[in-house]
Amino acid sequence: MPNSPATNADLLARSLSAVWHPCSQMKHYENFPLVPIARGAGIWLYDYDGKRYLDAVSSWWVNLFGHCNPRINAALRDQFETLEHVMLAGFTHEPVVRLSERLRTLAPVGLGHCFYGSDGAAAVEIALKMSAHYWRNVGKPDKTQFISLKNSYHGETLGALSVTDVALFRDAYGALIRQQATVPSPDWRNAVAGESAEAYALRCAAALEQHLQQHHAQLAAFIVEPLVQGAAGMAMYHPVYLQRARQLCDTYGVHLIADEIAVGMGRTGTMFACEQAPPPQPLPRGERGYGITPDFLLLSKGITGGYLPLSVVMTRDDIYQAFYADETARGFLHSHSYTGNPLACRAALATLDIFAQDDVLAANRHKAAYLNRIARSLREHRAVRNWRNTGMIWAFEVGSPHRDFAQRCFALALQNELLLRPIGNTIYFMPPYIIGEEEIDLLVNRTLQIVDQLG
Ligand SMILES: *Cc1c(COP(=O)(O)O)cnc(C)c1O
Repeated sequence: MPNSPATNADLLARSLSAVWHPCSQMKHYENFPLVPIARGAGIWLYDYDGKRYLDAVSSWWVNLFGHCNPRINAALRDQFETLEHVMLAGFTHEPVVRLSERLRTLAPVGLGHCFYGSDGAAAVEIALKMSAHYWRNVGKPDKTQFISLKNSYHGETLGALSVTDVALFRDAYGALIRQQATVPSPDWRNAVAGESAEAYALRCAAALEQHLQQHHAQLAAFIVEPLVQGAAGMAMYHPVYLQRARQLCDTYGVHLIADEIAVGMGRTGTMFACEQAPPPQPLPRGERGYGITPDFLLLSKGITGGYLPLSVVMTRDDIYQAFYADETARGFLHSHSYTGNPLACRAALATLDIFAQDDVLAANRHKAAYLNRIARSLREHRAVRNWRNTGMIWAFEVGSPHRDFAQRCFALALQNELLLRPIGNTIYFMPPYIIGEEEIDLLVNRTLQIVDQLG
């Protein structure tokens, strides 16, 4: 290959000169260099010097079944030779139809219609627009506001930022954003001494009710990250909050948008996090045991196994029907060039095949139990606080004298063959589901050494 980089140093210099990297102050790379990745195999990433890194954060929470997974590769190779892309307005194709049908059978009952985008933020934009447009179509044009949880993260395009409560990402763009209100987060770390996670979640639900009572006439939707607020530092909360949120949104005529971009696709132990909410009413015997059905369910990140950008907004039939009419303008005219890209849909189908063939959710339960068993010394380390786990997500805070803890920890982890990317003082594990016991041992033991050095 002409121009092929032979070394880490070569690629590093060229990247810094030509590529503007995301989520970065570029100058910081002077002290904390980029990591040039030559190839990936399974849970490991390799640089040009042959050093390896265990991808403990699934490459920003997207990878489910390892890098260069043979089964996903084979499906993509077949799709490459058949159809790489066709526009989805006025046309359709087999991968998008099959994926939509399969998601409908997997998702909470009633979410029968799939609208596609290319990344998570696009899905959020679509859901916000669809919700407000729905209310306009049914004669309630005043319902144009949204609420989200304190410390919520829903992406970084302007609409998504308006429901994202992370000052660092938002403040520079304040003048461009129609800021929306937030309600208290049920994150159990904020409970008062002696208060259970459940009691605290119910207290936050009461605050939500107060807000809905006062503002429902202007409110289109409440958007929430079910069970785990990822970018807030893997804040976890009791599922009863979702049950109450569903009831309250019904009572006050406000849509509930479940942003499962990070937590969907098995990450919290069930295929979708919403399944873990206690159902609002006791289910009739024999009925599927799903918790709640949101009005909109958003998926992205892991949906293609971490291969290709794809997002989907699933919604209910009555919402779909409010757009179905002779008039063009009543329709949902939103589009992206790559909407429903066949390659991405095919990668998603191959990903769902792996879930079905390998009984992944059951295997993950064993892996999670194993990690929790062997992590005792880490969990009980003097510097570790708020150890928590939901499905295949673990997180804890580290008491550390270092103000630049996150950067130091990232660098030290690399020296220890680990890709960790702390959020502030929070270390989290969100490994690909193919992680094995030996790799779990390595992850936990090396992390313990790192905490020992920095704590
Ligand atoms: C990552 C994320 C998004 C945004 O997805 P992008 O693909 O990065 O735009 C939205 N919501 C949640 C909960 C996320 O974790």
